Amino acid sequence: MKYWNRRLKDMAEYIPGEQPENLDEFIKLNTNESPFSPPASVLDAIRKAADASLRRYPNPTAMSVREAFAKQNNLSADNVFVANGSDEIFTLLLRGFIEADALAAFPYPSYSLYYTLAEANGVRYERIPLDQNLDLNFADFLKKKYALVIVCNPNNPTGKGIDLKALEAFASRFKGLLVVDEAYVDFYGETAIGLVREFDNIVVTRSFSKSYSLAGLRVGIAVAHADIVRGLLKLKDSYNVDRLAEAGALAALADRKGFKYNVGMVRDNKEFLEQRLEDLGFFIVPSRANFLFVRHPNVPAQKIYEELYTRKVLVRHFTGPVQSEYVRISIGSMMELRALVKELESIIKGG
Ligand code: PMP
Repeated sequence: MKYWNRRLKDMAEYIPGEQPENLDEFIKLNTNESPFSPPASVLDAIRKAADASLRRYPNPTAMSVREAFAKQNNLSADNVFVANGSDEIFTLLLRGFIEADALAAFPYPSYSLYYTLAEANGVRYERIPLDQNLDLNFADFLKKKYALVIVCNPNNPTGKGIDLKALEAFASRFKGLLVVDEAYVDFYGETAIGLVREFDNIVVTRSFSKSYSLAGLRVGIAVAHADIVRGLLKLKDSYNVDRLAEAGALAALADRKGFKYNVGMVRDNKEFLEQRLEDLGFFIVPSRANFLFVRHPNVPAQKIYEELYTRKVLVRHFTGPVQSEYVRISIGSMMELRALVKELESIIKGG
């Protein structure tokens, strides 16, 4: 740590879900990836892009993806920014869209990377607790003069959705920048993209890592007023989206059938898992995402996590108030979920 600056020394580390070396031995339900392959058309497009043109830099703004996404959502490319995963967008927003003496606010529990990136970028922030139903209360975000707020819809790790009417009412009263993280919106949710046409203080972020089965490709999108997009373009690394990522994302947007098929299977499997967990006596937080946040009245979450781990099933268990009472389970393939349920059954029956 000899050469680390103070901020780096002081910041808390982001702890991602485990990615064990011997991954093949595990059933991996801990990082909300898709259990299904990207459509063949997407893999073909990436393979096709892997040719001699890789010696050239990519398009600096991934313009083909900006245009395709804009067209699909009735926007202009000026409203669309393409990033190296949606995580990059949070970094850029915290780096360039809040003054050093201002205050940001994020819900808790929520995606812990917001807190980490705020610390990494020297942004002061507050965590605003969800209420006892794990719902977000917008009034709490108006109690102080926050300059930047990130909300997650549906929220990770709870899976709960945010009412768009409440979001809109908040946007019209809030004077700062409102970021709506829609990494999981494609599974059930309603998007806030429509509000970008009305409000110049809303940034909606999207991810290709979940519903598009492309976590390994690293592509995210921000939708916002052209002025904000111009700022993001000014701030980003020179070539933040590589040629393979641009080709893959473009093909993924084009293949609506493949996309809907994969999302549909996740939804079917989620229903199956909800039913089985209910049969086992779990309390399930109503989820609008590709994961379930659950607890059992008789077995502590930590024990469920540990027991599953020894049986080579990975789920996520977080430390900290409220969230440590639950485990978060990503929706996997039917085979994975059947294996999970079998192990849970034996754990709960004390076997
Ligand atoms: N937002 C939330 C709420 C997430 O859970 C994740 C996945 N870890 C991300 C954003 C990151 O998405 P990406 O892979 O596009 O960076």
